[in-house]
Amino acid sequence: MNYLILIALVILMAHSSYGQHENNFIDSLGQTVGGTKEELIKIKENYYLIQPTGIVGNIAVYTGSTGVVMVDAQWAKLAPRIKELISTVTDKPVRSLVNTHFHFDHVDGNKAFGRENVTIIAHTNLRERLLKDRVISGSAFGAIIQKAYPTEGLPTITFNDTMTLYDGNETIRLIHFPNAHTDGDAIVHFKTANIYHTGDIFVTYGLPVIDEANGGDIYAMIQTIEYLLSVSNSDTRFIPGHGPVCSVKELSEYRMLLTSIKDQVVAGAKKGLSLEKITEAVTVNKNVGGIDRNMFIGHVYRMVLKHEKMNNKKKSR
Ligand SMILES: [Zn+2]
Repeated sequence: MNYLILIALVILMAHSSYGQHENNFIDSLGQTVGGTKEELIKIKENYYLIQPTGIVGNIAVYTGSTGVVMVDAQWAKLAPRIKELISTVTDKPVRSLVNTHFHFDHVDGNKAFGRENVTIIAHTNLRERLLKDRVISGSAFGAIIQKAYPTEGLPTITFNDTMTLYDGNETIRLIHFPNAHTDGDAIVHFKTANIYHTGDIFVTYGLPVIDEANGGDIYAMIQTIEYLLSVSNSDTRFIPGHGPVCSVKELSEYRMLLTSIKDQVVAGAKKGLSLEKITEAVTVNKNVGGIDRNMFIGHVYRMVLKHEKMNNKKKSR
């Protein structure tokens, strides 16, 4: 587990709100995000990462010819600071905001930017998810309830498979990968710059959240990473959902990590071993942080069983 996430967890537990985390986890966390430290990191001319501390997602900033295109928006509370950081590199306003997925630490800021009539663009399923109270699964904090968003926090434009934005020499491709981290994920590709914002399909803190209750699936997550590796080169830069700017090397290591765990669980399941036996047998480098190892293997096991069942059905047809 990322030690900052651990600290946040300890703070939350100290405030005894953890017991009712299902209902007010996000509100409690929202009280603490004011202390977030933000750094604006230049990737190349006109492209930046706003890298935060704590349970706050990464923002990609592109200072285009007609305005700023932002990918993800962190928390509404942090919007003034985000705008201040952007104003140090351009005097143009934020024109559009792309959402990578519906989780609060990436899109709570929609509420602030939406109020200023920034165009918010996202996958159709993401907008659907924001319309109602949702339970987020797979996190280190158990089930988390994310309440329905007010109208101003909703995407104003949605897409299904892909969408393209143009600005001068830059072409920005939004690509939907079904059922990876959630069922409404978009990867954002700045083609000319050779930069991707991957959302939480790729994180650097270790074992990732896979939001199974909202369509997340480890098989598709691995496939998406394989796709990214197949279209990348040594100059490609990846902005993960959380963590520093990465290259192919880190993304390959991440693929290995997920593939190795998934393959070990598949092998165990095929032998008919119990989850307990599989959890005992799976080797995960103990230096890997993120979601608790046993909890993660439990998630993977459930997803593997689901896939095996589907495969068997296909075979018996
Ligand atoms: Zn997420």
